[in-house]
Amino acid sequence: VEERNRKEKVATVREEVKIGEGEWNNNIDYFINKKLRVWCRLLRGQWESGTIQTTSGEEATVSLSNGNVVKVPTGDLFPANPHILEGVDDLIQLSYLNEPSVLHNLQYRYSRDLIYSKAGPILIAVNPFKDVKIYGNDFVIAYRQKVTDSPHVYAIADTAYNEMMRDGVNQSVIISGESGAGKTETAKFAMQYLTALGGGSGRIEYEVLQTNCILESFGNAKTSRNDNSSRFGKLIEIHFSTLGKICGAKIQTFLLEKSRVVQLADGERSYHIFYQLCAGAPSNLKERLHLKLAQQYNYLNQSECLAIDGVDDAQKFHKLLEALNIVQICKEDQEHAFAMLAAVLWLGNISFKVIDNENHVLVLADEALSNAARLMNCSAPELMLALSTHKIQAGKDCITKKLTLRQATDRRDALAKFIYASLFDWLVEQINESLAVGKLCTGRSISIIDIYGFESFKKNSFEQFCINYANERLQQHFNRHLLKLEQEEYELDGIDWTKVDFEDNQECLNLFETKPLGLLSLLDEESNFPRATDLTFANKLKQHLNANPCFKGERGRAFSIRHYAGEVLYDTNGFLEKNRDPLHSDFIELLSSCSCPLPNLFASKMLNQSQRPGSSPCQFGTVDTPKQSVGTKFKGQLFKLMNQLENTTPHFIRCIKPNSKQLPGMYEEALVLQQLRCCGVLEVVRISRSGYPTRMTHQEFAGRYGFLLLDNSVPQDPLSISVAIQITLSNLKKYFHIAVVRSEIARRKYGIMANEQMAAIIC
Ligand code: ATP
Ligand code: MG
Repeated sequence: VEERNRKEKVATVREEVKIGEGEWNNNIDYFINKKLRVWCRLLRGQWESGTIQTTSGEEATVSLSNGNVVKVPTGDLFPANPHILEGVDDLIQLSYLNEPSVLHNLQYRYSRDLIYSKAGPILIAVNPFKDVKIYGNDFVIAYRQKVTDSPHVYAIADTAYNEMMRDGVNQSVIISGESGAGKTETAKFAMQYLTALGGGSGRIEYEVLQTNCILESFGNAKTSRNDNSSRFGKLIEIHFSTLGKICGAKIQTFLLEKSRVVQLADGERSYHIFYQLCAGAPSNLKERLHLKLAQQYNYLNQSECLAIDGVDDAQKFHKLLEALNIVQICKEDQEHAFAMLAAVLWLGNISFKVIDNENHVLVLADEALSNAARLMNCSAPELMLALSTHKIQAGKDCITKKLTLRQATDRRDALAKFIYASLFDWLVEQINESLAVGKLCTGRSISIIDIYGFESFKKNSFEQFCINYANERLQQHFNRHLLKLEQEEYELDGIDWTKVDFEDNQECLNLFETKPLGLLSLLDEESNFPRATDLTFANKLKQHLNANPCFKGERGRAFSIRHYAGEVLYDTNGFLEKNRDPLHSDFIELLSSCSCPLPNLFASKMLNQSQRPGSSPCQFGTVDTPKQSVGTKFKGQLFKLMNQLENTTPHFIRCIKPNSKQLPGMYEEALVLQQLRCCGVLEVVRISRSGYPTRMTHQEFAGRYGFLLLDNSVPQDPLSISVAIQITLSNLKKYFHIAVVRSEIARRKYGIMANEQMAAIIC
């Protein structure tokens, strides 16, 4: 009742304030006379509320709520919303939609642990960086039974589920936001809700939830932005039966950041699983894997960051074992997987000895070499050869060339990266087999997408280039659905509509995708050119792309891209090699020779990928097997993903990171504002506020509301029925309010409301 009273009051005040909104544009005096609150931009860009005392020319004297009196340009003043609108749960309810009002509204809610807000059709989730008691069974029930309508990820999942069941259309929940904004956590809550709703007596829903633990262990890592940063993109499709029960799931992953396995920035960690394994493996497993402490491995100790505050890696390992059992990865396969992880760690400890003036090397025959070979089940001499020599086909002969220190180190790291990435893909395949969509499935599904967030570090490399490109694609999907299509439809329908401008990112996407002079094409071209270097690549970009407003050539190997979320400076160092990601043919030979199932499998997969499968060992060694470049493959994957998403009804969640320190209770206005600005949230709110929230075909409308027509003489075609319903509704408009509150009385009095539910539907 209280909530209803409050909402009614809000509605009344909004009407009153609307009068003021017009006044603001012409006359600040209205605000002075009525002593209405304004937002005042102070020198450091912060906002403070106050009331205007006087104005003189372009300057106003403002009495701030903290007691100070300041003089500011009138251009730095914005109307504030009345107190009654403080903390409304949907931004479209705000009378004034200026930036300080939106920022304040979110902050007001955030400080009361109301982390979710609506912005028209979008759910905004502000990361609390602490446990907030708004999840779990009781809340699932509350949202399912519509006991509460406060914005929540559960409410979004509920809508997606209902729409899927009602319309038979596949749905998607698209979660975006910067790194550390809370996408993965939000995705997990959405999955939690759907599995609670679609859970039966079966195990499948339980398995679906456990996939998170496994994928996070193998695909997440601590970065400077986020202690649990996803280093891969993920789409999980949850499939349902006609009865709405989960009957399977399918996970797709995108471009795992491989370089992290061998190279770490200061203060960052490699994939969680390595530390978990070292800390949590029982002693007999440790013995079998010849495992040492994490700090004894070069791949892990290089960044001087081995632990994460508040995280117990050993305990996480036990959770992982449980999860692996639940998704039915057998003990034997688990052991094979752990052996591959240990092999990667030992590979990183393999060192080389320079043997001549040309820097050629031999592999040191030490503990690292023997352990790596033992774990991969190959012979140590063969591993030595694969790491220190390269076979070249010369006519019918096979020539072996020694590698330099640099080449051998790269070779070793490439092998470690390849094994890890193959292991990750294999694991996803195993999970998918276990969750396989069963016969009872109807083809109806809800997809949840959680990809790595937009990144801008001091040093940005090929990984950030790909991650940010993926975010541009997602942003375009968002723009298309919430800004472009919506407005185009109004125009098509001939609705009187003032266009809301928004930042279109098509130009930036063109910069990436145009052929032959786009970033990806130029990268491929340069990658295929034998004598090209990262510097020649950077010069080529400058030569061809300088006219593009989203591109800026920088000094040396660097260039910048103006992304929707801000400008990012990239260093082309390593771009060509990472894009080529050569399949070193000597590896295929080596891995095929291992008497252990996983390396063999990885080798045959690698061969299948290549266009020129070799048949004899020496043929493997001719050249590094050609395959599609990483950039082009990723582009293809993203196109496929977008096509898939286009066939679903989207539900958007925007995660916001309130501070860069990952601390609870801290709200950095500038950081939040930048996130709201770049992703078009304000524009969506503007469109939704003046737009139309629901859209139905005449057929759907007639089918759904035709019962309201008591008069049987109405023609039967959907358009005429719709018009007749509309006329009936217009006539009844004045009773609608009564109908919600006292539907029973309305029913008796006007004889049209069959029951409360119907009244609620109409209203
Ligand atoms: P990335 O792009 O780097 O993967 P992300 O957007 O997926 O980032 P998350 O890993 O989901 O970010 O969130 C970062 C951290 O924020 C989490 O580890 C958790 O500590 C905290 N967090 C996020 N959302 C919530 C929430 N709803 N409740 C409590 N804590 C949260
Ligand atoms: Mg994540």
